[in-house]
Amino acid sequence: MKHFSIAAIPGDGIGPEVMEEGLKTLKRIEELHGGIHFSIDAFDWNCDYYLKHGKMMPENGLEILRDYDVILLGAIGAPSVPDHISVWELILPIRRTFQQYINLRPIKLLRGLDSPLRYKAHDDLDFVVVRENTEGEYSNMGGRIHENTPFELAVQNNVFTRYGTERVIKYAYSLAEKRTKKRLTAATKSNGINHSMPFWDEIVKEVSRNHPSIRTDIYHIDALAAYFITRPEELDVVVGSNLFGDILTDLGAAIVGGLGLAPSGNINPEKTYPSMFEPIHGSAPDIAGKGIANPIAQIWSISLMMEHLGFSEVADLIVDSIEEVLLEGKVSTPDLGGKNTTSEFGSAIHEQMTFKS
Ligand code: ATP
Ligand code: MG
Repeated sequence: MKHFSIAAIPGDGIGPEVMEEGLKTLKRIEELHGGIHFSIDAFDWNCDYYLKHGKMMPENGLEILRDYDVILLGAIGAPSVPDHISVWELILPIRRTFQQYINLRPIKLLRGLDSPLRYKAHDDLDFVVVRENTEGEYSNMGGRIHENTPFELAVQNNVFTRYGTERVIKYAYSLAEKRTKKRLTAATKSNGINHSMPFWDEIVKEVSRNHPSIRTDIYHIDALAAYFITRPEELDVVVGSNLFGDILTDLGAAIVGGLGLAPSGNINPEKTYPSMFEPIHGSAPDIAGKGIANPIAQIWSISLMMEHLGFSEVADLIVDSIEEVLLEGKVSTPDLGGKNTTSEFGSAIHEQMTFKS
């Protein structure tokens, strides 16, 4: 029997609604597999917690999390608390302290779904974005001077270390080696950002020399964004800085059916610290409390978690079961044109989950 400890942070808005379905997925995995046991602790660290305690998590929050095998997050953010507090005091410290330097975001059009790019067949749209997750443009370094004068200015520094850049690019190449198209596309903007981006490009070229079987393309971010729409079937592994990866993955989510579907893993590949799995979407205050959020992003995040824990067959079963329900087309939430609730959609997926012998 394999035991895994999970820290669940449901968060705000639709976070707890989709987390409930995620917890049912974990239960279903235990029932089906027989050799896996999860011990789950839930933490109420969210914007309500902030309004009560003046911080997003307790002083020793990170120490508490450190001992878990993985962290499962719903969504964080509420209109009552500025994003720079909720994100900078909870999500970013977790990503950075636990060296979750890979943000892995599959962009895959599931069977049974239409892309807004209607002429694309589903099997053409299947790639993965590797986003740098600890430095780059989200540096917290900079400041503002001459406030309230005509000379007011704000500066934000981009930070690209050789260590941080090399490790994310090496990871992206190792992923490309495992995939079929053997292509790596790196996002740059070295024609406009003339210190950090040429450095990034140089490191891509250096690492590429160790991977002669992988075709490497380096594209400016503006051209690459267009490429996502016009030729996404050519993409396989896309690697980008923190900011570029963030923007590209919202775009990626849109071309495969929307934010309600898109999962992500914040991964510490060395497994020195816990990795964290979460939907790409936020707390969606516009639909929170109605019980109609799409649970797929959360359930698919658990598939990424199972892959990380070394159970590929369980990971595949989860995605297959989601696809079966979508193909059948009877049950879905309003974002996919359906009329069902979060829990009805979740239940349909969990009932579908069985190992066929
Ligand atoms: P954040 O700042 O936390 O990223 P946001 O306002 O950028 O939040 P989301 O909360 O991700 O964005 O929501 C963007 C849109 O997508 C909203 O209209 C929301 O209703 C929709 N949406 C997000 N997640 C889901 C979901 N799971 N199911 C259905 N719709 C969703
Ligand atoms: Mg957002």
